Amino acid sequence: MKLGISATEYLSLVRNGEISVEEFVAKTIDRIQAVENKVHAYITIDAENALDKARLVDKKNRAKEKTGILLGMPVSIKDNICTAGLRTTCASKVLEDFVAPYDATVVSRLKQQDAIIIGKANLDEFAMGSTTEFSHFGPSKNPWNTEYVPGGSSGGSGVSVSSLECVISLGSDTGGSVRSPASFCSVVGFKPTYGLVSRYGLVSYANSIEQVGPIARKVEDIALVMNVIAGHDPHDDTTVKKTGEDYVAGIDAGVKGKKIGLVQQMTGDGVDKEVSTATNKAMSKLQDLGAECIPISLDAVEHSVAAYYTIASAEASSNLARYDNIRYGFDFGTEGYEFKAYVSKVRSNFGPEVTRRMLLGAFVLSAGYYGKYYLKAQKVRAMMKSQVDEAFKKVDFLVAPTMPIMPFKIGEKIDDPLKLYLLDINTITANLTGIPAISVPFEISSTGLPIGIQLLANSFQEKSLLQAAYALQQTVNLPEVPF
Ligand code: GLN
Repeated sequence: MKLGISATEYLSLVRNGEISVEEFVAKTIDRIQAVENKVHAYITIDAENALDKARLVDKKNRAKEKTGILLGMPVSIKDNICTAGLRTTCASKVLEDFVAPYDATVVSRLKQQDAIIIGKANLDEFAMGSTTEFSHFGPSKNPWNTEYVPGGSSGGSGVSVSSLECVISLGSDTGGSVRSPASFCSVVGFKPTYGLVSRYGLVSYANSIEQVGPIARKVEDIALVMNVIAGHDPHDDTTVKKTGEDYVAGIDAGVKGKKIGLVQQMTGDGVDKEVSTATNKAMSKLQDLGAECIPISLDAVEHSVAAYYTIASAEASSNLARYDNIRYGFDFGTEGYEFKAYVSKVRSNFGPEVTRRMLLGAFVLSAGYYGKYYLKAQKVRAMMKSQVDEAFKKVDFLVAPTMPIMPFKIGEKIDDPLKLYLLDINTITANLTGIPAISVPFEISSTGLPIGIQLLANSFQEKSLLQAAYALQQTVNLPEVPF
């Protein structure tokens, strides 16, 4: 039995009785045990419960009882999304032993459809980073070359899907965290329109820009997961009332007659040569399928990294103020308790990147600098939104490389935060403007490393965006992960 199958293939094998859920889950656990020491995708693995649940789904299946549409599919969940009874650490020492009392809405929706949570995936601490090197539990490794970073912050999610340690995963995308690991690990990663998927139970980093998003091996699997997780949630007032779209139906509609814009500011300077060649190739493939391709300029992209890090850090500094080790935390002792000393001791347990963001966020919000930084960043955001709105009057989709460069060695950029921040230049536009975006695996470079292509659409156009991504996916035939 092959583990490297899509979610859609998994469902038909189980439905036709060709494999049992228990067999598949047991094999997935064997795989996890065989490869985890090489790739470190997981912080927590829930093998025993997973097998128990698998038997239950098999039993329902045999008795011809109604089962959920995900039929026992093993999934991994980024460890900043709450799972009742299974710890949610955010890859932080500060939440090392935290067990949430409830499931995030996205998790309970997956469970209602009989998905099996096989483990919690590694991430950069509190989802701040682009490489998964900032995890308190150590970095995840890129399965295409384990000396290289897998992208981030949902690196564990990307790695778990690409190294066949689950079928699908949920990550979170505040500035590219689903799409970056998807691109670096040769899997598909999708950030939905802001407000389409509930954030209830997602540990907040920057509320105004983030969404939970799926990672999978195939675009059609993303559509399937979206059918389960999208829609209004009374626990999250930012979710839209509009529901019931079927993202799977008609996914093969193609791109004939569609207009596609190549974003100039995301393809020029600073983009690796092989990455830009791949992007041009993707454009011509879309053209061969009947799309019309034109260049599109979004000037505000130039200021987007500065605006993003100002806004995201400001929100982070406010969100992370709650970790005082009184309401959440670890056993620390209160001997000689004195408020300031206590708080500073407790808060020194955050890692270096989270600390940097909290300091930066507090600074840009401080009385003397608010207008100069935070307010200005919000103006850039508004300008980006109006430029994106204009662009979508001319085209149906935008295209750009997901990441400007290919995966690089672990440790290579860890001491240079600015270099790391600049890697987000192509992904953050979707977050700051709220639009949906998807990374599709497109090529394996001459050095054996993955290159992903990003497609973006106007708000709530996910159905046609997934159709375009599917069309692009059908033009490529990529090798499976090398071990
Ligand atoms: N790299 C970006 C950051 O560190 C994106 C993170 C994310 O999307 N969670 O903020």
